[in-house]
Amino acid sequence: MPELPEVEIAARRLSRAAKGAVIETALAPGMVTMKTFDPPLDALAGRPVDGVRRIGKMLAIEAGDLTLLVHLMSAGRLQLWDKRSSLRDRSSRLLVRLEGERELRLREFGTQQRAWAKLLPADHVDADEALAKLGPEAYPPPPLEQFAELIRQPHHLHPMLRDQRTITGIGRSWVDEILWTAELSPFRQGNDLDDDAVERLHSAIDERLGDALAHYEEVIGDSIPDKAPMPLKVHRRAGEDCPRCGTKIEAVHFKDYVMCYCPNEQTGGRVLKDRRLSRLLK
Ligand SMILES: [Zn+2]
Repeated sequence: MPELPEVEIAARRLSRAAKGAVIETALAPGMVTMKTFDPPLDALAGRPVDGVRRIGKMLAIEAGDLTLLVHLMSAGRLQLWDKRSSLRDRSSRLLVRLEGERELRLREFGTQQRAWAKLLPADHVDADEALAKLGPEAYPPPPLEQFAELIRQPHHLHPMLRDQRTITGIGRSWVDEILWTAELSPFRQGNDLDDDAVERLHSAIDERLGDALAHYEEVIGDSIPDKAPMPLKVHRRAGEDCPRCGTKIEAVHFKDYVMCYCPNEQTGGRVLKDRRLSRLLK
């Protein structure tokens, strides 16, 4: 799933390219993509795009007093195409056709339709249920004191940092990177962190998300690739050497994701039980 840096670079690129372009039509070939029906999607026709911004892991296409809010979920992509797609393209979920031949296209890979969009009056966006429960943005991170309050809870760091109600924008990839950078165990409890650990975590979030964005600014041109060139050091690198200390990166497999960490620097030398393995052994 695209996380804060990937969605942010998409918003920046789309905004740069689509700003000022007048919307000709908007349609939703994805049968379940639109979660709202009033105002109708057609109300976008004739409006210029004011810009595209990121809210958490969502993209907001702004057109006057209307905002089209898009959540890519795990397999969605929102890209600007020079040519319009055929309506038979089964990956298309939402098409915002601009003057000329260009088209903002939400596509989704795989058979599931999970990506969604809402067309909202601009002044209703903040109160929408998709936003109302979001914690503060992860980047730039909230001030240290506020951050300390947010994460000193009796929960494990890994799920807590991915919980958008605590802090918004971090998911399964960047959480591994951030915890590795802070040298903290994914299973440490938030309320168990001393001041030094809280500070390390705070600056790790700032550093890693900031570096990722700087990296994307450099390597991503005008169009958004299907797969972002993520500058990852431990996530999905189980079995490789830790780039800092050379210890073998270990992984814990969950049903739908993998958690990677350096046992030497994060868990005091302990290799955590791999739930996939222990299930097989039962
Ligand atoms: Zn290490």
